[in-house]
Amino acid sequence: MKNKNEIIEEMQKVVEQMRLDDIEENPDIENDFFDCDCCGQSKCLAGSIQYGDYRLCNDCVLFAEVGFELKKFTSIQDLIDAMEDKRLEEMCEFIKQDYTAFNG
Ligand SMILES: [Zn+2]
Repeated sequence: MKNKNEIIEEMQKVVEQMRLDDIEENPDIENDFFDCDCCGQSKCLAGSIQYGDYRLCNDCVLFAEVGFELKKFTSIQDLIDAMEDKRLEEMCEFIKQDYTAFNG
């Protein structure tokens, strides 16, 4: 039985390798961005994964895979729901930034 830190370390390597593979396959991907369905941030397409209806950035793929491995949740929907507060925070940040830029 592996402990939690070992699982996280192993997953970090796997997920980082996915990102490197994507870049190797298509170097231009480093300039391609999308809005992650999980964290709501604009992230690089490299290392992102489509899970059903959702596309997750490389960082969130790590959360997802570690979460599945540690049995923290069973579906990607659980993670999306858990991240909802964070997405709202992000949105508020954007609005604040726009507001500051407008009034700046
Ligand atoms: Zn994300």
